[in-house]
Amino acid sequence: MFMRFITLSAAIVLVHGALIPHDGHDHTHNVNQGLPSAWFQTDDHPVHALFKRAFDDGVDYPAVGSPAWSAPFPTSTPDPNALPAEWVNALDAAVAAGKIPNIPQSSGKPQTNPVYPSGTNPTSPEVCSATYKCRNSGDIWNGPDGYFGTSFDDGPQPFTPKLLQFLDQNNEKATHFMIGVNILAFPQQFMATLNSDNDIAVHTWTHPYMTTLSNRDIVGQLGWSMELIHRSTGGRIPKFWRPPFGDSDNRVRAIAQEVFGLQTIIWNLDTSDWGITTGATTPEQVHTNMQQWLSGPKSPGLIILEHETSEASVDAFIAAYPLIKSNGWKTESLAELVGNGRSYRNAGSSASNDVISAGILIGNASPSNTSSAPSSSSSPSISTTTSSNASSASSTTQTTSTVVVSTAATSLATSSTPTSNSSTVNRDCGFLTWILSTFISATVMSVALIW
Ligand SMILES: [Zn+2]
Repeated sequence: MFMRFITLSAAIVLVHGALIPHDGHDHTHNVNQGLPSAWFQTDDHPVHALFKRAFDDGVDYPAVGSPAWSAPFPTSTPDPNALPAEWVNALDAAVAAGKIPNIPQSSGKPQTNPVYPSGTNPTSPEVCSATYKCRNSGDIWNGPDGYFGTSFDDGPQPFTPKLLQFLDQNNEKATHFMIGVNILAFPQQFMATLNSDNDIAVHTWTHPYMTTLSNRDIVGQLGWSMELIHRSTGGRIPKFWRPPFGDSDNRVRAIAQEVFGLQTIIWNLDTSDWGITTGATTPEQVHTNMQQWLSGPKSPGLIILEHETSEASVDAFIAAYPLIKSNGWKTESLAELVGNGRSYRNAGSSASNDVISAGILIGNASPSNTSSAPSSSSSPSISTTTSSNASSASSTTQTTSTVVVSTAATSLATSSTPTSNSSTVNRDCGFLTWILSTFISATVMSVALIW
């Protein structure tokens, strides 16, 4: 039945998503373009067994969007007892080495800030919860002076192609913090993002408050996202992740870093653009905020939270874009900007020809093995499977999308200007994907019942 669901989704995205042609970019960087001499972890670390794809391994990897592509992945919240052994081993090794702080899980109701057990201070250096405005120095909150780091959360979505087209027309790139189950639901929009040479980064599998999860649950949220992106981008390994709602603490960020080599990126300003469709804010208010921020000081550089969840949120960026340029901001995709010109752990960009595959991932630290870009014969391709039920399928996924974009969230503290020592975290786009994943499960069950 899951195969039928994916066929359903593939048919839908053919209806909703027009592929954006890649006309090339000529971005230049005054930063180090060199390849890393080794991946994040040492060669004997179990994490090296996590991502095994290599371009010369003889394996015929399924096309993105095909049933075989989606089959290995969970359709909703990952089961912590059904994780690949390598991931659990990597977690256990990190815990045993004392690298994962023993911080209690928070708890909370949907759309409320997570609360820690009595006796746990969320702003203490030991816990350092980003939700409570504690900035861990290892996380990224600010951009370099004078820069606007472009990024969007919660894709891929039905309006992703509109955003990509605008970016492409203006010779811009962005980092897209993607939700795993959304990649499964919108594979064509995912591939359009990749083929436009925009960056793919991790925004978890089902968009939970990460500090509420167990260590294994955190591993599942990040690991499945990493694996799907890895398999769907020609072997690229994401370098950055952004916690949903900006909710992270020292335990969560340590697991991301120690198990998967992921660096945490938050933001220093929040448009609350997710709230346009819910009435929590208006396009005019978003634009007023953008006018204020973009005409402000150039230090620190701006990392503004924006979403591709709806046409309204995409339009909010399009409306603000002239202000970015007229105020003299230099623009880069966020991952390239803070990643010294490299968007992925083992590749320069989505279109670069420098993917380091087997050699660096299975114990050979010498980056001698390179691969071709996604446009080559060894790169992932999109499945064009269609369904005779395309019409009803379209309705189904549009409804799913509506659920995604219409869910409200609560807000934390706001600030009119970014600072280097205090957070301006707002809640990031609500409880949307919990509902999305629930909806997908319900859809799968419905399809099974009907078919
Ligand atoms: Zn989000």
